[in-house]
Amino acid sequence: MLQELCALPAGLLDAGPRELDTLLGGPTLIHLPGNREPPLFVSVLMHGNEPVGWEAVRSLLTSHLERSGTLRLPRGLSLFIGNVSAAAAGVRHLPGQPDYNRIWPGSESPPTPEHAMMQEVVDLMRRRGVFASVDIHNNTGCNPHYGCVNLLDNRYLHLATLFSRILVYFIQPRGVQSMAMSRLCPAVILECGKVGEKHGVDHARDYLDACLHLSVLPDHPVASGDIDLFHTVAQVKVPEDVSFGFPPGEADILLNPELELLNFRELPRGTALGRVDGHNGIRLDVRDEQGRNISDRYFHVEDGELRLKLPVMPSMLTRDEEVIRQDCLCYIMERYNDHVPHRD
Ligand SMILES: [Zn+2]
Repeated sequence: MLQELCALPAGLLDAGPRELDTLLGGPTLIHLPGNREPPLFVSVLMHGNEPVGWEAVRSLLTSHLERSGTLRLPRGLSLFIGNVSAAAAGVRHLPGQPDYNRIWPGSESPPTPEHAMMQEVVDLMRRRGVFASVDIHNNTGCNPHYGCVNLLDNRYLHLATLFSRILVYFIQPRGVQSMAMSRLCPAVILECGKVGEKHGVDHARDYLDACLHLSVLPDHPVASGDIDLFHTVAQVKVPEDVSFGFPPGEADILLNPELELLNFRELPRGTALGRVDGHNGIRLDVRDEQGRNISDRYFHVEDGELRLKLPVMPSMLTRDEEVIRQDCLCYIMERYNDHVPHRD
């Protein structure tokens, strides 16, 4: 299932995300040499409808091409181009495919050939050695650019704060690329804003270029003023049997149309996420990191509105109904700066 190459196939850098499937024929790991080793590992298109990673890599590699057509990189690059068939269709994943960012080693979902492929990618990189790992995503909703880490280690935090001072630490969901790669090297996920924003592509490209020029990732503490660290404490879903929508419309829950503006804002108790039609038995599915349903801790229905019982900070709130169904409504975060490692 996995194709492994040691050079760029002809025409690759001219290909848009929808053309990669035809050109590559499937998920592909490409090793490109550089002046320093071990390589930086970069994965793109874990989600087929998030082109920012491929566009950033394409731009990066093009800028390192010499006139003769030779690629000169300051450090080796192992590039994993993931779900190209979903990218051809412009969707997160095809029907029948698993989510490519939930099937890496550590995943708790039932094994599939795609799980085995991700295991193979990790095994190959373990054998080669790897400097650091970067997985690049778009997201929906109005979120700032931010990085995510799964381990609170100074080298990992340095890697991530090179991209943004806003960082999110999480350990659920399992099976994400960064969690698997965190066992080999400093690893980060980049969240680069909405699809189609040029600023997201430019920011990711400049970041990768900076990573390729790094000689070491420092082990000393990140200055506390340089980091806003948040911890994801829960994931919020709309239960399958509950309908939702936006006004004007009819559904069990009519969500606040301004929802996206609430991302990364510390919301006071009582903030309404939407209106509940008729009965008060409607509940969201809110799971903590251990998978326990903790809906009653965060939400209640009052005066026909679905309101916060506690002050929280959400991320990934979106108006995209398909994303809400396939992934989630949002994540709930708490400020976590006290947990940044520092020297005593
Ligand atoms: Zn994604």
